[in-house]
Amino acid sequence: MLNLVLFGPPGAGKGTQSERIIEHYGLIHLSTGDIFRSNIGDKTELGKLAKSYIDKGQLVPDEVTIDMVKSEVEKHSTPKGFIFDGFPRTQVQAKALDEYMKKKNTSISAMIALDVPEEELKERLQQRAKDSGRTDDADPKVIEQRIEVYRKETAPVKSFYQEQSKFHEVDGMGSIESITDRLFSTIEKIK
Ligand code: ADP
Repeated sequence: MLNLVLFGPPGAGKGTQSERIIEHYGLIHLSTGDIFRSNIGDKTELGKLAKSYIDKGQLVPDEVTIDMVKSEVEKHSTPKGFIFDGFPRTQVQAKALDEYMKKKNTSISAMIALDVPEEELKERLQQRAKDSGRTDDADPKVIEQRIEVYRKETAPVKSFYQEQSKFHEVDGMGSIESITDRLFSTIEKIK
């Protein structure tokens, strides 16, 4: 199996690039942000809980998120692999994912990080707010908070994969196509 973790701050382009990677490699896209948003739309209990954190720019608690990812993975019987987008976002989540993959007799193949400067991120998020209507993109204070949470809680996840020699970084600036090309050539080296 090819199991990739796509990493990068809010607005780095993880969603856009995931779509292209899954199409090319036949992987299953598992975006925790998307799953939370679909639960919010359906007004489920999980959605109500998630919304109370997301609207403040905070992370949804680890236990809830980890259980949700596991049950999502279980929905697929013989997948070629997964692309985890927006997960793991904390060291606790990263450890839980490793243990879970081991139980399933597989592992994370690599983490690929999209590198984008902060100024560009803010611009992209403001633009996305206009197009997508995401409430957490519309408020500059919430954006600041998400970037802060990223720095404090999520950025350290990088070292978790560096220690296993599974960390790769790709320049996330330029056209969508050129970023996809860089991602594909990185994935080819991993496979
Ligand atoms: P972005 O990367 O642009 O912030 P996402 O769609 O990945 O957007 O996530 C939106 C929000 O959903 C996050 O700010 C957070 O509140 C919540 N969320 C998503 N993934 C996780 C996760 N793995 N752990 C905890 N909270 C999460």
